[in-house]
Amino acid sequence: MNDLMKDLLGLQSLDTELILLAALKRTRPQELEKERAMGIQAKQALDHLQQEIKRIKLECDRAELDLKKDQADLEKVQVALNTAKSNQEYQVLRDQIERLKERMGKAEEAILMKMAEIDSLNEEKKAAIDNLAAVEKEFKVKEEELQGFLKELAERANGLEKKRAEKAQIITPDALEVYSRILGRYCDAALAAVENNVCQGCHMSVTTQLITQLMIGRDLIQCKNCMRILYLPEREEG
Ligand SMILES: [Zn+2]
Repeated sequence: MNDLMKDLLGLQSLDTELILLAALKRTRPQELEKERAMGIQAKQALDHLQQEIKRIKLECDRAELDLKKDQADLEKVQVALNTAKSNQEYQVLRDQIERLKERMGKAEEAILMKMAEIDSLNEEKKAAIDNLAAVEKEFKVKEEELQGFLKELAERANGLEKKRAEKAQIITPDALEVYSRILGRYCDAALAAVENNVCQGCHMSVTTQLITQLMIGRDLIQCKNCMRILYLPEREEG
């Protein structure tokens, strides 16, 4: 293998790692999306409970106001009962009192039920607050982890970029241009090994004529199909 090919392979190995790092930089933050969604969900659950508690408290207040009004009416009717002028009037007032008492009994029952509901929702709210805190803590931990990871990634990429720039300088501009063009097209590798007369980039056969040229090793030989720069892997040397 000629020196140019060795340099290109060196460049390719740096680029392969850089491509991998770039992919990680892109995909790793997505792993946090699950935690983020859980946080939103926990917050929504808490909001929902708070609204529900507020709503039932309002209902409770309204029912208590109605109850007070009925209570006042009851007292008035009871006073009227004591001064009833006829049996008929007495009976009408008695019926009215019965109806009011029945309604008030039902209202008191409903108020008690609503209060019990508020108590149980308050318990749920406590659990929801704890859950939200736990989810937010978990998110923070993972986010810090991610930031650390991305920082390391950036440092590693910087180091590789420097090495790559040095490596690129010793490669002839023509070869570098071909290399860059093919890498830009495939976004994975510009070089492909030939194994068993097959290009490992596109898995198509390579002509014997090309193999011969590769063995002579004077020029850059490109696959006729995928255009990747071909090389014969060196085996069991030294
Ligand atoms: Zn090919």
